[in-house]
Amino acid sequence: MNTISAPLVTALQIAPTVERIETLLLDLPTIRPHKLSVATMIGQTLMLVKIHCSDGFVGIGEGATIGGMAYGGESPESMKLAVDSYFAPVMVGQDATRVQALMARLGKMVKENRFAKSAVETALLDAHGKRLGLAVSELLGGRRRDRLPVAWTLASGDTAKDIAEAEEMLSIRRHNVFKLKIGARSIREDVSHVAAIKRALGERGAVRVDVNMAWSETDAVYGMAALADAGCELVEQPVASAAGLARLMRRFPVALMADESLHGPESAFEIARVHGADVFAVKVEQSGGLYNALRVAAIADAAGIELYGGTMLEGALGTVASAHAFSTFANLQWGTELFGPLLLTEEILVTPLDYSEFQLTIPDGPGLGVTLDEDRVRFFQRDGLRKTVSIAK
Ligand SMILES: [Mg+2]
Repeated sequence: MNTISAPLVTALQIAPTVERIETLLLDLPTIRPHKLSVATMIGQTLMLVKIHCSDGFVGIGEGATIGGMAYGGESPESMKLAVDSYFAPVMVGQDATRVQALMARLGKMVKENRFAKSAVETALLDAHGKRLGLAVSELLGGRRRDRLPVAWTLASGDTAKDIAEAEEMLSIRRHNVFKLKIGARSIREDVSHVAAIKRALGERGAVRVDVNMAWSETDAVYGMAALADAGCELVEQPVASAAGLARLMRRFPVALMADESLHGPESAFEIARVHGADVFAVKVEQSGGLYNALRVAAIADAAGIELYGGTMLEGALGTVASAHAFSTFANLQWGTELFGPLLLTEEILVTPLDYSEFQLTIPDGPGLGVTLDEDRVRFFQRDGLRKTVSIAK
């Protein structure tokens, strides 16, 4: 009996555990004001989490939101507080190699907080991937593609500037799919803005819009018809409610995409049940983490809903984590919008991500496959060497 149980005991004793969890806030400027119907961003705040394991591996994850608390209930500051005060006591001392079991344990002790959970799950997967010598995409079931198409968001608020920006992206072959943020101005102004950009780009660039729930249903009925005439191929979340989206479905020859109303697998199932979208914008943080994003994609596939890889305007770490998850999707008919790091003026990785030929290359090293530039992080850390304030209004 001893000969059977002894190795088991040894294995349990040497299972690496979560030793310490470190969090910090990074304030980074954007390359230009990013105007959404809910906020104008002139900077982005990233909440970084580092999970130090007893075997010496350190995993890194990121949480970010769009426009502070303009998009949802969490903020980078609230994520930091949640991880420091509530997640860490539940996680420290636990087996760091059982990522799904540890996330389930955390889920029992902490309700909601999908973005903060996504950040710590990313860090656990990064550490475990490094431990096993495997990319996070392999831990998530195996990647199906090494490069992802990346759309660019035109959101300067000025038609001529947006056209010039799109022309620049086409000429450097970085993006040929453009998403326009509308909904802050009148519908007539928005439609003429979209039509002017589509006219200027012609067949060289695809044009989509994101209304960020700014329209009423009657606005949407007028707006979607006019946008279809203008050559727009997809409208993202024109109205807030899932029921409203369902009523707008199939009325227009333009795809309807759900974004804000998708909050993980349960809401994905609910939208699918009422035929409330042609396309899901899957966001890792909105879904509550990488595994949940995979579950949302599986529901979409089963319901015949097409997929698009969304962003919360994450920095490099959150973007790469999303890329690993999206690389495993069976279908990704509408590509991705993983351009977050390109919106920031500062590089925080030792080796920048490769955006070229209209695509992002997914790193293939162990874990996330990226290394933080710790000097840059120290410089831009809140209350660090450079005092910065990120303002969303
Ligand atoms: Mg959106």
